Amino acid sequence: MSMGNDNEIRLEKLGEKTFYVTGLFKIGVYKISDTDICLIESGLDRSYAKSVDKVFEKEGLNVKYIINTHYHADHSGGNAYFQEKYNCQILATRINAELMREYALCPSIIWGGSPVKNILNNYFLAENSNAEDIMQKELPEGIEIGMLPGHSYEMIYVKTKDDVAFLGDAVVAEETLSKHHLSYIYDIEKHLETLDVLEQLEAKYYVAYHDEPFTDIKEHVAFNRKNIYENIELIKDICSEPKTIEEVIREYFNRYYFRLSMYKFAVDGGMIRNYMTYLYNKGELCADNIDNFIKWHTTKKFY
Ligand SMILES: [Zn+2]
Repeated sequence: MSMGNDNEIRLEKLGEKTFYVTGLFKIGVYKISDTDICLIESGLDRSYAKSVDKVFEKEGLNVKYIINTHYHADHSGGNAYFQEKYNCQILATRINAELMREYALCPSIIWGGSPVKNILNNYFLAENSNAEDIMQKELPEGIEIGMLPGHSYEMIYVKTKDDVAFLGDAVVAEETLSKHHLSYIYDIEKHLETLDVLEQLEAKYYVAYHDEPFTDIKEHVAFNRKNIYENIELIKDICSEPKTIEEVIREYFNRYYFRLSMYKFAVDGGMIRNYMTYLYNKGELCADNIDNFIKWHTTKKFY
């Protein structure tokens, strides 16, 4: 089995009925019959889905289901294309299904209100699709799911009978973390609990959407957990003196010699804010009004 880190789109086998589509995004493919398949995720957008579909056309495969681990546009952006062409059933947890039916709301989750135009690209905005609540439907034979909340609200994993677990964005490659330091986490507390669950999830192969398939889940969980605690320590260190959220974001970027842009302020800044929210709710950060600025700090001193 080739595990080359290229962007060529082809089917790779992981088990008797389980495959994944190579390329920038690792789309899961489970054969429910000789010709019918269930996809796990659908690619970035219509054009990406079309290039994936060429592989299915060549193999004479018919997309019967798509299961999305969560609503994020890079996972569900191909839904509309596949549903139009194959009339497939699209399944996700209830809230994720609702979001994919009315996608315009999704960038607001990143921005915290009607979003700035900078983030309205195909990573944050997908076409609507008619997704349904996976808990109310019968799963295709040979597939089971489990909850992995944290990266996103009510994210799931999909495990096939061939002992292959598709993990959505629950873990990120070590290389990516050491380069970017931040990965998107909606709810840090739930995500840390999810990493504990994941550590116990047994499978022959694990597929995270943005990485090559791997076999050692414990190792992946360990460096993902380490990255979170590094971010927590860094943010607490930055907040040893009271700072506004914008100052914390600026300081985080300065420490890694990254340059801030409006796009990064919206996306990465949001990730930093999620860490601060977590620490504040846990009582590890205080926030006080100082000269009508809300400043965040680790000291218990009242300003
Ligand atoms: Zn995601």
